[in-house]
Amino acid sequence: MAVQGEGIVAREVRGAVAPEPLVIDEPGPGEVLVRVQASGVCHTDLHIRNGAIASLPMLLGHEGAGIVEAVGPGVVQPRVGDYVILAWRAPCGTCRFCRIGQLHLCAASLNGQPRQHTPAGEFPPPIMGLGTFATHTVVHANQAVPVSPDIPPAQACLIACGVMTGVGAALYTAGVRPGSSVAVFGAGAVGTSVIQGARLARASKIIAVDLAPQKLAWARTFGATHTVNPAEGDPVEQIRALTDGYGVNYAFECVGHPAVLEQVLACRDLAGVATLIGVAGHGSTLALDLSRFFDLGGSLRVSWYGDCLPTRDFPLLVEWYLRGELLLDELITRRIALAEVEDAFQAMERGETLRSVIGF
Ligand code: NAD
Ligand code: ZN
Repeated sequence: MAVQGEGIVAREVRGAVAPEPLVIDEPGPGEVLVRVQASGVCHTDLHIRNGAIASLPMLLGHEGAGIVEAVGPGVVQPRVGDYVILAWRAPCGTCRFCRIGQLHLCAASLNGQPRQHTPAGEFPPPIMGLGTFATHTVVHANQAVPVSPDIPPAQACLIACGVMTGVGAALYTAGVRPGSSVAVFGAGAVGTSVIQGARLARASKIIAVDLAPQKLAWARTFGATHTVNPAEGDPVEQIRALTDGYGVNYAFECVGHPAVLEQVLACRDLAGVATLIGVAGHGSTLALDLSRFFDLGGSLRVSWYGDCLPTRDFPLLVEWYLRGELLLDELITRRIALAEVEDAFQAMERGETLRSVIGF
């Protein structure tokens, strides 16, 4: 039977969002219906609402955790009642990347059919095939990863996007090595998670770079050993001053701005690895001094979702949280209701929050 619920659809570029009634149809073959218990507000939702990266309308929310309430025909796992974190990557196992063992690059990631619709029968596409700014969603069974019920929903949902992306970018994309030096530009939820990944990898120097003094103070909680505020002078020079004039082994862009990527490339030591995580708007370009790029060596990598495999990594990150090694409580700066997402977007634009988490 269809479920009556509500959700948030971005309809106009920069237009204020508010909950509206939604009908959620039964799961089809291979799909599961999830009652969303918590959803984090990621900057990618805001980019979409602001019209920077995709066309509207779109049903927002892609950082969710909840309970499986119904399963469609043929679903063996998860089961009704399972507590799950929702993934926007569910490798198909058969595409050209999966076939050569690169499941983290899957080019045909599994999604459910759109089943959340307005009472009038409009199906706004759910962002990343999830649509978790809603009381319920229907996803492919492989997108719903069972985890220990010992982690509360508000913490669990953070693993679904921002935390997994940041930790994975440090551990998998860049492969931060023990004793190395790291600079992280943008100390929001993604950036502080890169900082945690670097801490878990036993980096020696972890430099957080952000314009907001409060973000720099929070970054220290997550493992930053030094902080740099670009408002106080060229961040590249400040990073050099902290690294005997050399620059860092690993630098991360967690903002989504070409000028920041230039700084990320420039603050590296010889053979340094730059990792782009931030999502820049359409039409953003980068001017690259090729001779300097060559002389410095190293590489520029792009990290999609921290190169994670959700079925391997979600339970692992939950385990680290339960052992006290991965901080998640400290990321929740606001607990909000669905009706407060617009306020959360505005607070994010003002740089006031790490994560606002919607509780249902
Ligand atoms: P956020 O808004 O919480 O954090 C961004 C931070 O950047 C803020 O703390 C802000 O103060 C800081 N900042 C802004 N301009 C800056 C500058 N010039 N120099 C230094 N810091 C600056 O956002 P978030 O949710 O952490 O997401 C960060 C980025 O990562 C976004 O672009 C988002 O779309 C992207 N993202 C990418 C992936 C992926 O798979 N690659 C996944 C999730 C999010
Ligand atoms: Zn996200």
